[in-house]
Amino acid sequence: ATPTALMVGTGRGARSGILIKGPEVLESTKRVDTVVLDKTGTVTEGRMELVDVRPADGESEQEVLRIAAALEDGSEHPVARAVVDAARARVRNLPEIQEFANVEGLGVRGVVDGRTVLVGRQRLLEQHGVVVPDSLRTARDEAERKGGTAIMVAWDGKARAVLAVSDTVKPTAAEAVRGMRELGLKPMLLTGDNRAAAEAIASRIGIEEVVAEVLPEEKADVVDRLRERGSTVAMVGDGVNDAAALARADLGLAMGTGTDVAIEAGDLTLVRGDPRAVVDAIRLSRRTLRTIK
Ligand code: ADP
Ligand code: MG
Repeated sequence: ATPTALMVGTGRGARSGILIKGPEVLESTKRVDTVVLDKTGTVTEGRMELVDVRPADGESEQEVLRIAAALEDGSEHPVARAVVDAARARVRNLPEIQEFANVEGLGVRGVVDGRTVLVGRQRLLEQHGVVVPDSLRTARDEAERKGGTAIMVAWDGKARAVLAVSDTVKPTAAEAVRGMRELGLKPMLLTGDNRAAAEAIASRIGIEEVVAEVLPEEKADVVDRLRERGSTVAMVGDGVNDAAALARADLGLAMGTGTDVAIEAGDLTLVRGDPRAVVDAIRLSRRTLRTIK
């Protein structure tokens, strides 16, 4: 891509700041028939809030929050920020951490106050041999059915709580999906989050096809598979974990509100992070190509 970015606007005005890396991008835009949308930060605001803490029998809510937040303080994930913000509002100071590691697409692990701590998906706990009791599984299912994300907290080999965080769907997401269908494009939702939450959100905005619980490195594989089947794919994303998929798609659209890595990997940047700009971008480039020819 060329460093010269063209700023284009549409008749519909100021909302669609679209930055194009180079004129060659327009060519692939014309053939796009499938739009793969990342969930967190693309379809949703990506600003999560802690809505519930469900400690296991004998565990204290305060203690769970202190330990989880201390570890999550090292992560930039929206889930982590929700946990840290909630803890800071309720707990005076967070304990010291001795070790920290990010486990892409699963959560975080480390040592807090001498305890070996895991915070993330159930799969992360299971990978470390932690048994999750039925009470916590039930709490997780309840949170997920409502479209939320349930993460688990464990330390020293024992599951301690489920934390429920929830995000809000962008108010323009449903309109964006309708616009895609009007252009004959097939929308899909792609996420590392759980299936129940992904489906709840998809149905709210009118998407039928959902690929959930994918690891960050698998997002690009999903794009590859669609392309092998003959689709021309536009990928829309905002996160570090979307970068490979954005690069691999026929057309990568990065949310301008997202991370630099994603913006770097995309062909187009939607400056305002409004999903309706996806429709504007595709409509506009089709129109521009007709004018050139
Ligand atoms: P998305 O595709 O929705 O952007 P990610 O691939 O970043 O999601 O993360 C997938 C899932 O992994 C999250 O929904 C969450 O359950 C879990 N996860 C990732 N990072 C963290 C973290 N720092 N703390 C807790 N859970 C996490
Ligand atoms: Mg994202």
